[in-house]
Amino acid sequence: MGEQWEYHVQDRDVTEALTDTLSPEAAEAIRNLGKIADGRGVGAFVVGGVVRDALMKRACEDLDIVVEDDAIDFAEAAARELGGHVKKYRRFGTALLVLGRGVKVDIATSRSESYARPGALPDVAPDPIELDLKRRDFTLNAMAVRINAEGFGELLDPAGGQEDLATGVLRVLHEHSFEDDPTRVLRCVRFAARFSFEVDPLTEQLLQDAVDNDLVSTVSGERIMNEIRLILSEDEVWAPLERLDSLGALASIHAEWRLPENAPHLFSELVAIMEDPVGSIRSATLWHTNFLAAVSALSISDARALLDRLRSGATLRSLVDELARFEVRARERLESENALSRSNVYDTLAALSPETLAVVLASAGPIASRRVALYLSELESVEPVLSGSDLIVLGLEEGTDLGDILTDLRRARLDGFVTSKTEELEFVRRAIRNLDVENKR
Ligand code: ATP
Repeated sequence: MGEQWEYHVQDRDVTEALTDTLSPEAAEAIRNLGKIADGRGVGAFVVGGVVRDALMKRACEDLDIVVEDDAIDFAEAAARELGGHVKKYRRFGTALLVLGRGVKVDIATSRSESYARPGALPDVAPDPIELDLKRRDFTLNAMAVRINAEGFGELLDPAGGQEDLATGVLRVLHEHSFEDDPTRVLRCVRFAARFSFEVDPLTEQLLQDAVDNDLVSTVSGERIMNEIRLILSEDEVWAPLERLDSLGALASIHAEWRLPENAPHLFSELVAIMEDPVGSIRSATLWHTNFLAAVSALSISDARALLDRLRSGATLRSLVDELARFEVRARERLESENALSRSNVYDTLAALSPETLAVVLASAGPIASRRVALYLSELESVEPVLSGSDLIVLGLEEGTDLGDILTDLRRARLDGFVTSKTEELEFVRRAIRNLDVENKR
């Protein structure tokens, strides 16, 4: 059970817990939305993660609301009354209500779901809140709090989520849960790792059965990718990835997907690097970086096949290709004991994205590690004083020669052969003279 918080089963009014964990703006928004629901004569509730986080005294940013009403109509009425705008998702019958002061509220119609087959999207029908809670993934996510003025703060907990929170247990609501929606395999691992919760023994058995029956392979690439992204955005990614690997779930997504042998070291290095990033690594996207590390043991053709399975976009594809190219062409040079000048180090690393640099650093031996650190803290920001337009003033035309001279000038700066504007001017004039001599030959 998680040690960072203490939880006691509470009485059924959880107003205080909710107000303590929401921002004042969000707390005001739910009061107002409750009043709008009253005006329409419908029930309204905050649900899922909001309630769970409130009871765990964890700050929560996303507001999820369920109304016993048409969610899109409700959102539009709320936007008119409170000021704000609505993004409608007609296909799902849900809406995002964006209010002033950065408050965003996801609004859904209270509904029940049935599944035609494992992995399929559910058939949905409007239903009272109790039935809506029954379609949810885990008991701790299957609680709601009423926000209507009358009964505000009343906790609805039909599945025993409070008790499971108190004992630190993750439990599905019924034994067909993973069959209904196998993405819950990934969610289970993510929540268990995030909260350091035990998976209840029956749930554990159902989880393993779901993986053994290859149910994850029935889920669309987009939905799996979404869950993978959420896992890889957590503070701690090694534990859930390792769990997915040992369950056999990674192999269910792609037969060759294994974690690299040095994964525990790699991910613990990455955590440290991303917590206190240096240089251009500051702009690395965390989950992309973690994804690169998680697929770093795959051959390039397997990694590409995995990306196809996950229907990945172009960014991850080019990162995976870039890291593979680096491993083939440059890793050995970076790790070697042979001396490398500062400009050599620069040339080896300069074209790499922040994400690839982070993974290269996390997996580097001591020599390479010093070189990447030097690059990030110093070399990557070295620029000559003279720019391309200065070189044109000195008589060069735009084109390859100009580019080559600028590159040489940067190398000379990096290696300390030029240290001032005067020396740079001398360097460029000399290079132009050499060009003239060559052109005359
Ligand atoms: P997080 O803190 O990671 O955002 P969350 O619980 O808020 O966690 P969401 O993905 O935003 O996660 O989902 C909101 C709620 O919707 C969940 O708490 C749960 O009740 C329900 N839910 C989401 N995905 C599923 C699913 N695949 N099956 C059943 N219920 C789900």
